[in-house]
Amino acid sequence: MSRTTLPLTPRPAFAVRTHCPYCAFQCGVLMGEGDGQPDRVMGDPHFPVNNGQLCVKGWTSHTLLRHPRRLTTPLVRDTLAEPFRTANWEDALDLVADKLAAIKAESGPEAIGLFGSGALTNEKAYLLGKFARVAVGTPHIDYNGRYCMSSAAAAQNRAFGLDRGLPFPLADIEHAEVIWLAGSNAADTLPPIMQWFDRQKANGGRLIVSDPRRTPTARAADLFLQLTPGSDLALANGLLAVAIEEGLTDREFIAARTSGFDAVKRIVLRYHPAHVERLTGVPEAQLRAAARWLASAKSAMVLSGRGAEQHSKGVDTVHAHINLLLALGKVGKPFSGYGCLTGQGNGQGGREHGQKADQLPGYRLIEVDAHREVVAKVWDVDPASLPRKGRSAFELLDSLGPSGIRTLFVMGSNVAIASPDMGRIESRLRALDFLAVCDSFENETTAHAHVVLPVYQWAEEEGTTTNLEGRVIRRRITARPPTGVRGDIDVLRELAARLGAGDKFEFYSPRDVFDEFRRATAGGPADYSGVTYERIDAEDGVFWPCPAEDHPGTPRLFAERFHHPDGRAKFFPVEHRPAGEEPDEAYPITFTTGRYKEHYNSGAQTRLVAKLTEARPAAVLQLHPRLARRHGIATGNVVVLESRRGKAEFAAELSADVRPDTVFAPFHWGGKQAANRLTSTALDPISRMPEFKFAAVRIAAVRPGERPA
Ligand code: SF4
Repeated sequence: MSRTTLPLTPRPAFAVRTHCPYCAFQCGVLMGEGDGQPDRVMGDPHFPVNNGQLCVKGWTSHTLLRHPRRLTTPLVRDTLAEPFRTANWEDALDLVADKLAAIKAESGPEAIGLFGSGALTNEKAYLLGKFARVAVGTPHIDYNGRYCMSSAAAAQNRAFGLDRGLPFPLADIEHAEVIWLAGSNAADTLPPIMQWFDRQKANGGRLIVSDPRRTPTARAADLFLQLTPGSDLALANGLLAVAIEEGLTDREFIAARTSGFDAVKRIVLRYHPAHVERLTGVPEAQLRAAARWLASAKSAMVLSGRGAEQHSKGVDTVHAHINLLLALGKVGKPFSGYGCLTGQGNGQGGREHGQKADQLPGYRLIEVDAHREVVAKVWDVDPASLPRKGRSAFELLDSLGPSGIRTLFVMGSNVAIASPDMGRIESRLRALDFLAVCDSFENETTAHAHVVLPVYQWAEEEGTTTNLEGRVIRRRITARPPTGVRGDIDVLRELAARLGAGDKFEFYSPRDVFDEFRRATAGGPADYSGVTYERIDAEDGVFWPCPAEDHPGTPRLFAERFHHPDGRAKFFPVEHRPAGEEPDEAYPITFTTGRYKEHYNSGAQTRLVAKLTEARPAAVLQLHPRLARRHGIATGNVVVLESRRGKAEFAAELSADVRPDTVFAPFHWGGKQAANRLTSTALDPISRMPEFKFAAVRIAAVRPGERPA
């Protein structure tokens, strides 16, 4: 199979090959140089993921490198009531180290928390995890990927014994006969991926999309299932019930390669199509059509996004989709299987190498003694000295304050905007004794900080990331950092030295870290030990697991066996259940959040890019004309939405693309437009993923005219 069907064009002589800083597609980009600084970006036609395509965020990504609001000197202050004053690096690092040491001496290491990011390279994510466990000694480290893919990751680990966003290369998409996109608006979140669906359709394939909104992705579907928010699990169970009832399951595959089907069968047979139609709003005829398409195809995939996953039943929802595919015998076969469309740039690598509360490098588990021993040996520490499992992202932030975590160190995450029940998290941040943030710009989180350390951006240092396929790729240096800025690796080395752990952190470049990191992953589920920078260059990335330098890497998982000891995939019986908070008389409308193609996550970067803010200056509330009529709302009116946690206001946009019982707004803004002031803190019991996609709200006020400030 050829890697690309696009003609290969000569690479411009000026260009350096690297990757976009934003989402998990990690598009290959070519950076063109002006006077020694990149002044243009184009898609890399040779990178076999995006094949030269970029979205508008990628096209404009270079403009942040020399942005006038770029931080170029450390900022410090004693109290939040004071403005920041500039400081030199030595003083700022001394201050952070002194605060960490003082809190540790007073209240123990558990009073210190660290918060990482899916934007960090593998090297940084690894080093931050080691810093937390070895230099600080705290169990409390987690990252914003917990808010993103943790439910899909947990379900894949439970069902298959291993989690990798996609267990196959993206190029397999074009050969799948049927694909079900469950809760993903990929046309806006990962625009270049649509080329693969276009090719799949050109090859005669069919696309099913389930979503409460008729999104641009849904408009590309052959079958659109406009389900009630939070009913994805019932929908998948309903399709499996149809498959069983109509004799469409693959009994041979179930017997040979899986375990636990009978328990699932007993439960899903209660999901009669008429019952599922009531739960989901999807007509029985569409349910039957979807089940038949998936079952009768030679190859089929289910690819899920945050719409299905960001619920308090997210793990069970992913299980329901995996159950369906296993029952149809559509996993571990060519051009078939379940995959999660990972969101953040290094969301995949970020969840494998130790910045998550329950993990150690190589996707090892911190509660497993054998795993602790392997990593402790690489780190040259006593296994008993490694902390145990810490708090998950939201629980960590929710414990900030005098009786919990008193000092927080944040690297590359705008937690104030990205967390549910934002008002509550803001008050927790204000209750800290001390907050230090490493970032390139001031943002809504640095507003609560005592120290801000200005660090390199993506194009100013090298390092590896792992894209949504599990392809380990390399970012290269394409820009000179501004004077006064330092790298995250420097920061961690300097702090570790001040905390008395300097001998364990003698890293002077990302390559130094990568060499140790490879050893720390050797033998783990996510084994990178055979990956080298040189191989990445030569092979356009290497798929993990790759346990030796002469190992070819593993583009496709599960072809022979699943990763449980018995080699079988596991069914998990799962039941539909209500959201953490259902609409009621007081709060009768369902609120759901999502993204615009012009902005990325909390918007801390993209809201600074003029072209992006011109295109999308503000969040807009999408609501159905029938709902609008009931409240006397016209397009352009300012609507104040209220949940039990707070208020936010948006300009209204009337659209029949959203269900009449549901309203939608993106979460890229702070201030009055902060969607996360409304969102729920209900957590999935297994993944601890917050329920971003479902909150009960009411319309508190409607004003004519102007957009909210
Ligand atoms: S944001 Fe994602 S889809 Fe857009 S150019 Fe960057 S990597 Fe590609």
